Amino acid sequence: MLNEFELIRRFFSRPPADGTVRLGVGDDAAAVTPTPGHELLLAIDTMVEGRHFFADAPPATLGHKILAVNLSDMAAMGAVPRWALLSGTLPDSDPGWLTAFSEGLFALADRHDVSLIGGDTVRGPRSFTVAIAGEAPAGEALTRAGARPDDDVWVSGTLGDAALALAAMQGQITLAPAALTALRVRLEMPEPRVALGLKLRRLAHAALDVSDGLIGDLGHILNASGVGADIELSRLPCPSALKALLNGAERPLALRCLLAGGDDYELCFTAPPAARVMLLMLSDKLDLPLTRIGVITATPGLTVFDEQHLPLPALPAAYNHFPNGSRS
Ligand code: ADP
Ligand code: MG
Repeated sequence: MLNEFELIRRFFSRPPADGTVRLGVGDDAAAVTPTPGHELLLAIDTMVEGRHFFADAPPATLGHKILAVNLSDMAAMGAVPRWALLSGTLPDSDPGWLTAFSEGLFALADRHDVSLIGGDTVRGPRSFTVAIAGEAPAGEALTRAGARPDDDVWVSGTLGDAALALAAMQGQITLAPAALTALRVRLEMPEPRVALGLKLRRLAHAALDVSDGLIGDLGHILNASGVGADIELSRLPCPSALKALLNGAERPLALRCLLAGGDDYELCFTAPPAARVMLLMLSDKLDLPLTRIGVITATPGLTVFDEQHLPLPALPAAYNHFPNGSRS
Protein backbone atom coordinates (compact mmCIF):
# COMPACT_ATOMS: atom_id res chain seq x y z
CA MET A 1 0.00 0.00 0.00
CA LEU A 2 1.15 3.52 -0.79
CA ASN A 3 1.57 6.20 1.80
CA GLU A 4 -0.22 9.55 1.40
CA PHE A 5 2.62 11.42 -0.29
CA GLU A 6 3.54 8.60 -2.68
CA LEU A 7 -0.13 8.44 -3.59
CA ILE A 8 -0.33 12.17 -4.36
CA ARG A 9 2.89 12.13 -6.37
CA ARG A 10 2.02 9.04 -8.34
CA PHE A 11 -1.62 9.74 -9.16
CA PHE A 12 -2.27 13.45 -8.87
CA SER A 13 0.96 15.26 -9.82
CA ARG A 14 1.06 16.19 -13.49
CA PRO A 15 2.73 19.06 -15.32
CA PRO A 16 0.27 21.98 -15.55
CA ALA A 17 -1.65 22.57 -18.80
CA ASP A 18 -0.07 25.98 -19.41
CA GLY A 19 2.23 28.70 -18.10
CA THR A 20 -0.42 30.24 -15.83
CA VAL A 21 0.59 27.88 -13.00
CA ARG A 22 3.69 29.09 -11.14
CA LEU A 23 3.24 26.67 -8.23
CA GLY A 24 1.09 23.55 -8.49
CA VAL A 25 0.89 20.32 -6.49
CA GLY A 26 3.63 20.14 -3.86
CA ASP A 27 3.50 23.44 -2.00
CA ASP A 28 1.20 24.62 0.78
CA ALA A 29 -0.82 26.55 -1.75
CA ALA A 30 -0.84 26.86 -5.53
CA ALA A 31 0.04 30.12 -7.29
CA VAL A 32 -1.60 30.99 -10.60
CA THR A 33 -1.68 34.07 -12.80
CA PRO A 34 -5.13 35.18 -14.00
CA THR A 35 -5.52 36.83 -17.42
CA PRO A 36 -5.51 40.66 -17.11
CA GLY A 37 -8.98 42.18 -17.43
CA HIS A 38 -10.70 38.94 -16.48
CA GLU A 39 -12.53 37.94 -13.32
CA LEU A 40 -12.34 34.55 -11.63
CA LEU A 41 -15.42 32.32 -11.48
CA LEU A 42 -15.25 29.82 -8.61
CA ALA A 43 -17.34 26.71 -7.99
CA ILE A 44 -17.18 23.52 -5.93
CA ASP A 45 -19.03 20.21 -6.01
CA THR A 46 -18.94 17.06 -3.91
CA MET A 47 -19.88 13.46 -4.74
CA VAL A 48 -20.50 11.00 -1.90
CA GLU A 49 -20.64 7.21 -2.22
CA GLY A 50 -24.17 5.91 -1.72
CA ARG A 51 -25.63 9.33 -2.48
CA HIS A 52 -24.12 10.34 -5.83
CA PHE A 53 -22.57 7.06 -6.97
CA PHE A 54 -22.74 3.33 -6.30
CA ALA A 55 -19.88 1.65 -4.41
CA ASP A 56 -19.08 -0.46 -7.49
CA ALA A 57 -19.10 2.43 -10.00
CA PRO A 58 -16.15 2.19 -12.41
CA PRO A 59 -13.43 4.45 -10.92
CA ALA A 60 -12.57 6.04 -14.29
CA THR A 61 -16.15 7.31 -14.53
CA LEU A 62 -15.93 8.81 -11.03
CA GLY A 63 -12.74 10.69 -11.92
CA HIS A 64 -14.45 11.96 -15.05
CA LYS A 65 -17.69 12.92 -13.36
CA ILE A 66 -16.37 14.83 -10.37
CA LEU A 67 -14.51 17.12 -12.78
CA ALA A 68 -17.34 17.15 -15.35
CA VAL A 69 -19.91 18.49 -12.89
CA ASN A 70 -17.58 21.36 -12.03
CA LEU A 71 -16.81 22.08 -15.70
CA SER A 72 -20.57 22.17 -16.23
CA ASP A 73 -20.82 25.01 -13.68
CA MET A 74 -18.12 26.90 -15.60
CA ALA A 75 -20.04 26.29 -18.84
CA ALA A 76 -23.21 27.67 -17.27
CA MET A 77 -21.40 30.91 -16.42
CA GLY A 78 -19.71 31.24 -19.81
CA ALA A 79 -16.31 30.85 -18.15
CA VAL A 80 -13.12 29.26 -19.48
CA PRO A 81 -12.24 26.57 -16.89
CA ARG A 82 -8.59 26.79 -15.84
CA TRP A 83 -7.51 25.46 -12.44
CA ALA A 84 -8.90 22.68 -10.26
CA LEU A 85 -8.33 21.43 -6.71
CA LEU A 86 -9.27 17.88 -5.73
CA SER A 87 -10.13 16.68 -2.24
CA GLY A 88 -10.37 12.91 -2.06
CA THR A 89 -11.57 10.89 0.91
CA LEU A 90 -10.55 7.31 0.28
CA PRO A 91 -11.05 4.08 2.27
CA ASP A 92 -7.67 2.76 1.05
CA SER A 93 -4.81 3.48 -1.36
CA ASP A 94 -5.58 0.70 -3.90
CA PRO A 95 -3.27 1.52 -6.85
CA GLY A 96 -5.52 -0.12 -9.48
CA TRP A 97 -8.52 1.89 -8.35
CA LEU A 98 -6.51 5.13 -8.16
CA THR A 99 -4.93 4.62 -11.58
CA ALA A 100 -8.34 4.33 -13.23
CA PHE A 101 -9.78 7.24 -11.22
CA SER A 102 -6.92 9.59 -12.06
CA GLU A 103 -6.91 8.55 -15.73
CA GLY A 104 -10.60 9.39 -15.96
CA LEU A 105 -10.03 12.75 -14.31
CA PHE A 106 -6.96 13.75 -16.32
CA ALA A 107 -8.42 12.62 -19.66
CA LEU A 108 -11.21 15.18 -19.22
CA ALA A 109 -8.89 17.82 -17.73
CA ASP A 110 -6.55 17.51 -20.73
CA ARG A 111 -9.40 17.96 -23.21
CA HIS A 112 -10.22 21.29 -21.55
CA ASP A 113 -6.66 22.42 -20.75
CA VAL A 114 -7.51 22.43 -17.04
CA SER A 115 -4.60 22.07 -14.58
CA LEU A 116 -4.97 20.14 -11.32
CA ILE A 117 -3.03 22.48 -9.03
CA GLY A 118 -3.56 20.92 -5.60
CA GLY A 119 -5.90 19.20 -3.23
CA ASP A 120 -6.20 17.18 -0.10
CA THR A 121 -6.11 13.44 0.56
CA VAL A 122 -7.61 11.84 3.64
CA ARG A 123 -8.85 8.42 4.70
CA GLY A 124 -12.55 7.78 5.24
CA PRO A 125 -15.79 6.77 3.47
CA ARG A 126 -15.30 7.44 -0.25
CA SER A 127 -16.17 10.94 -1.41
CA PHE A 128 -14.71 13.52 -3.77
CA THR A 129 -14.77 17.27 -3.98
CA VAL A 130 -13.43 19.38 -6.81
CA ALA A 131 -13.12 23.13 -6.57
CA ILE A 132 -12.63 24.87 -9.88
CA ALA A 133 -11.61 28.33 -11.01
CA GLY A 134 -12.37 29.71 -14.44
CA GLU A 135 -12.14 33.07 -16.12
CA ALA A 136 -14.35 35.43 -18.08
CA PRO A 137 -13.83 39.02 -19.21
CA ALA A 138 -14.77 41.16 -16.19
CA GLY A 139 -18.54 41.64 -15.94
CA GLU A 140 -19.39 39.32 -18.85
CA ALA A 141 -20.15 36.05 -17.09
CA LEU A 142 -23.63 34.64 -17.70
CA THR A 143 -25.97 34.60 -14.71
CA ARG A 144 -29.41 33.31 -13.80
CA ALA A 145 -30.81 36.81 -13.47
CA GLY A 146 -31.07 38.22 -16.99
CA ALA A 147 -34.16 36.49 -18.45
CA ARG A 148 -36.71 38.89 -20.00
CA PRO A 149 -40.35 38.46 -21.05
CA ASP A 150 -40.66 37.08 -24.61
CA ASP A 151 -37.21 35.46 -24.47
CA ASP A 152 -37.15 31.95 -25.86
CA VAL A 153 -36.24 29.20 -23.40
CA TRP A 154 -33.66 26.78 -24.85
CA VAL A 155 -32.02 23.59 -23.69
CA SER A 156 -28.98 21.74 -25.06
CA GLY A 157 -28.77 18.01 -25.75
CA THR A 158 -31.44 15.75 -24.29
CA LEU A 159 -33.06 15.59 -20.85
CA GLY A 160 -33.91 12.64 -18.65
CA ASP A 161 -31.27 10.23 -19.97
CA ALA A 162 -29.33 9.93 -16.72
CA ALA A 163 -32.43 9.72 -14.52
CA LEU A 164 -33.87 6.97 -16.72
CA ALA A 165 -30.60 5.03 -16.52
CA LEU A 166 -30.65 5.37 -12.74
CA ALA A 167 -34.28 4.21 -12.55
CA ALA A 168 -33.34 1.13 -14.60
CA MET A 169 -30.26 0.42 -12.47
CA GLN A 170 -32.45 0.65 -9.36
CA GLY A 171 -34.92 -1.84 -10.85
CA GLN A 172 -37.79 0.64 -11.18
CA ILE A 173 -38.08 -0.10 -14.88
CA THR A 174 -36.70 -2.52 -17.46
CA LEU A 175 -34.95 -1.19 -20.57
CA ALA A 176 -33.49 -2.95 -23.60
CA PRO A 177 -29.78 -3.65 -22.84
CA ALA A 178 -28.55 -1.46 -25.72
CA ALA A 179 -30.72 1.45 -24.58
CA LEU A 180 -29.51 1.12 -20.99
CA THR A 181 -25.87 1.01 -22.08
CA ALA A 182 -26.27 4.29 -23.98
CA LEU A 183 -28.16 5.99 -21.14
CA ARG A 184 -25.60 4.83 -18.57
CA VAL A 185 -22.89 6.71 -20.43
CA ARG A 186 -24.96 9.85 -19.95
CA LEU A 187 -25.26 9.14 -16.21
CA GLU A 188 -21.64 8.19 -15.60
CA MET A 189 -19.72 10.24 -18.17
CA PRO A 190 -21.61 13.52 -18.66
CA GLU A 191 -20.08 15.84 -21.27
CA PRO A 192 -19.89 19.40 -19.89
CA ARG A 193 -21.09 21.97 -22.46
CA VAL A 194 -18.11 24.28 -22.10
CA ALA A 195 -17.84 25.36 -25.77
CA LEU A 196 -21.55 26.19 -25.82
CA GLY A 197 -21.33 28.24 -22.62
CA LEU A 198 -18.55 30.39 -24.06
CA LYS A 199 -20.59 31.19 -27.19
CA LEU A 200 -23.70 31.93 -25.12
CA ARG A 201 -21.95 34.83 -23.42
CA ARG A 202 -22.92 36.96 -26.44
CA LEU A 203 -26.29 35.36 -27.21
CA ALA A 204 -28.08 34.44 -23.98
CA HIS A 205 -29.73 36.65 -21.37
CA ALA A 206 -29.61 34.03 -18.59
CA ALA A 207 -28.23 30.51 -18.24
CA LEU A 208 -27.59 27.65 -15.83
CA ASP A 209 -26.74 24.00 -16.02
CA VAL A 210 -29.49 21.47 -15.41
CA SER A 211 -28.19 19.28 -12.61
CA ASP A 212 -31.27 18.82 -10.40
CA GLY A 213 -33.97 18.52 -13.06
CA LEU A 214 -35.37 21.03 -15.55
CA ILE A 215 -38.34 22.25 -13.51
CA GLY A 216 -36.38 23.11 -10.38
CA ASP A 217 -33.41 24.55 -12.23
CA LEU A 218 -35.44 26.64 -14.68
CA GLY A 219 -37.29 27.82 -11.56
CA HIS A 220 -33.98 29.30 -10.33
CA ILE A 221 -33.71 31.40 -13.52
CA LEU A 222 -37.33 32.52 -13.14
CA ASN A 223 -36.89 33.50 -9.48
CA ALA A 224 -33.59 35.28 -10.08
CA SER A 225 -35.03 37.15 -13.08
CA GLY A 226 -38.49 37.91 -11.62
CA VAL A 227 -40.31 36.34 -14.57
CA GLY A 228 -42.33 33.21 -15.45
CA ALA A 229 -42.26 30.67 -18.29
CA ASP A 230 -44.56 28.57 -20.45
CA ILE A 231 -42.95 25.28 -21.49
CA GLU A 232 -44.21 22.76 -24.07
CA LEU A 233 -43.80 19.15 -22.96
CA SER A 234 -43.89 17.92 -26.58
CA ARG A 235 -40.85 20.09 -27.41
CA LEU A 236 -38.61 18.73 -24.65
CA PRO A 237 -35.71 16.83 -26.27
CA CYS A 238 -35.36 13.35 -24.82
CA PRO A 239 -33.94 9.94 -25.76
CA SER A 240 -36.23 7.65 -27.74
CA ALA A 241 -36.49 5.16 -24.86
CA LEU A 242 -37.98 7.91 -22.71
CA LYS A 243 -40.28 9.16 -25.47
CA ALA A 244 -41.72 5.65 -25.79
CA LEU A 245 -42.48 5.51 -22.05
CA LEU A 246 -44.24 8.88 -22.15
CA ASN A 247 -47.05 7.33 -24.19
CA GLY A 248 -47.62 4.30 -21.97
CA ALA A 249 -48.25 3.06 -18.46
CA GLU A 250 -44.87 4.36 -17.28
CA ARG A 251 -45.75 7.98 -18.13
CA PRO A 252 -45.44 9.21 -14.50
CA LEU A 253 -41.89 7.85 -14.23
CA ALA A 254 -41.01 9.23 -17.67
CA LEU A 255 -42.33 12.67 -16.66
CA ARG A 256 -40.29 12.57 -13.46
CA CYS A 257 -37.11 11.69 -15.39
CA LEU A 258 -37.72 14.36 -18.00
CA LEU A 259 -38.83 17.21 -15.75
CA ALA A 260 -37.16 16.52 -12.42
CA GLY A 261 -34.58 13.80 -13.06
CA GLY A 262 -31.27 15.40 -12.32
CA ASP A 263 -27.75 14.66 -13.56
CA ASP A 264 -28.51 16.00 -17.06
CA TYR A 265 -25.62 18.54 -17.15
CA GLU A 266 -27.16 20.28 -20.12
CA LEU A 267 -27.44 24.05 -20.34
CA CYS A 268 -30.81 25.78 -20.06
CA PHE A 269 -30.79 29.38 -21.23
CA THR A 270 -32.99 32.20 -22.42
CA ALA A 271 -32.31 34.35 -25.47
CA PRO A 272 -34.24 36.91 -27.52
CA PRO A 273 -36.02 35.64 -30.67
CA ALA A 274 -33.48 37.66 -32.70
CA ALA A 275 -30.81 35.13 -31.63
CA ARG A 276 -32.63 32.10 -33.11
CA VAL A 277 -30.72 31.94 -36.38
CA MET A 278 -27.36 32.33 -34.66
CA LEU A 279 -28.25 29.63 -32.13
CA LEU A 280 -29.27 27.15 -34.82
CA MET A 281 -26.00 27.83 -36.65
CA LEU A 282 -24.15 27.31 -33.38
CA SER A 283 -25.98 24.02 -32.83
CA ASP A 284 -24.77 22.86 -36.26
CA LYS A 285 -21.21 23.98 -35.60
CA LEU A 286 -21.00 22.30 -32.19
CA ASP A 287 -22.89 19.23 -33.42
CA LEU A 288 -25.09 19.60 -30.34
CA PRO A 289 -28.89 19.85 -30.44
CA LEU A 290 -30.25 23.17 -29.18
CA THR A 291 -34.01 23.09 -28.73
CA ARG A 292 -36.48 25.88 -28.13
CA ILE A 293 -38.80 24.53 -25.41
CA GLY A 294 -40.91 27.55 -24.46
CA VAL A 295 -41.07 31.24 -23.72
CA ILE A 296 -40.46 33.61 -20.81
CA THR A 297 -43.57 35.42 -19.52
CA ALA A 298 -43.92 38.65 -17.52
CA THR A 299 -46.25 36.86 -15.07
CA PRO A 300 -44.29 34.78 -12.52
CA GLY A 301 -44.86 31.02 -12.37
CA LEU A 302 -43.88 28.04 -14.47
CA THR A 303 -46.50 26.25 -16.56
CA VAL A 304 -45.78 23.06 -18.50
CA PHE A 305 -48.32 22.38 -21.26
CA ASP A 306 -48.97 18.75 -22.22
CA GLU A 307 -49.43 17.30 -25.72
CA GLN A 308 -53.06 18.56 -25.77
CA HIS A 309 -51.87 21.98 -24.68
CA LEU A 310 -53.40 21.59 -21.20
CA PRO A 311 -51.32 22.68 -18.21
CA LEU A 312 -49.87 19.76 -16.24
CA PRO A 313 -51.77 19.89 -12.93
CA ALA A 314 -48.82 18.91 -10.70
CA LEU A 315 -45.15 19.23 -11.48
CA PRO A 316 -42.71 16.66 -10.07
CA ALA A 317 -40.40 18.13 -7.41
CA ALA A 318 -36.68 18.58 -8.00
CA TYR A 319 -34.16 16.59 -6.00
CA ASN A 320 -33.40 18.23 -2.66
CA HIS A 321 -30.82 16.93 -0.15
CA PHE A 322 -32.75 18.53 2.72
CA PRO A 323 -36.46 18.34 1.83
CA ASN A 324 -38.42 20.51 4.28
CA GLY A 325 -35.23 21.14 6.20
CA SER A 326 -35.02 17.47 7.25
CA ARG A 327 -32.89 16.40 10.23
CA SER A 328 -31.35 12.99 10.53
P1 ADP B 1 -0.83 20.40 3.57
O1 ADP B 1 -0.54 19.42 4.66
O2 ADP B 1 0.09 21.55 3.53
O3 ADP B 1 -2.27 20.78 3.49
P2 ADP B 1 -0.86 18.13 1.92
O4 ADP B 1 0.16 17.29 2.58
O5 ADP B 1 -2.30 17.85 2.20
O6 ADP B 1 -0.54 19.63 2.19
O7 ADP B 1 -0.66 18.06 0.36
C1 ADP B 1 0.63 18.17 -0.21
C2 ADP B 1 0.51 18.74 -1.61
O8 ADP B 1 -0.21 17.84 -2.42
C3 ADP B 1 -0.25 20.06 -1.65
O9 ADP B 1 0.34 20.84 -2.69
C4 ADP B 1 -1.62 19.67 -2.05
O10 ADP B 1 -2.28 20.71 -2.74
C5 ADP B 1 -1.36 18.46 -2.93
N1 ADP B 1 -2.45 17.46 -2.91
C6 ADP B 1 -2.88 16.74 -1.85
N2 ADP B 1 -3.87 15.89 -2.20
C7 ADP B 1 -4.07 16.08 -3.52
C8 ADP B 1 -4.97 15.52 -4.47
N3 ADP B 1 -5.86 14.57 -4.16
N4 ADP B 1 -4.91 15.98 -5.74
C9 ADP B 1 -4.04 16.95 -6.08
N5 ADP B 1 -3.16 17.51 -5.24
C10 ADP B 1 -3.18 17.09 -3.97
MG1 MG C 1 0.32 23.07 4.44
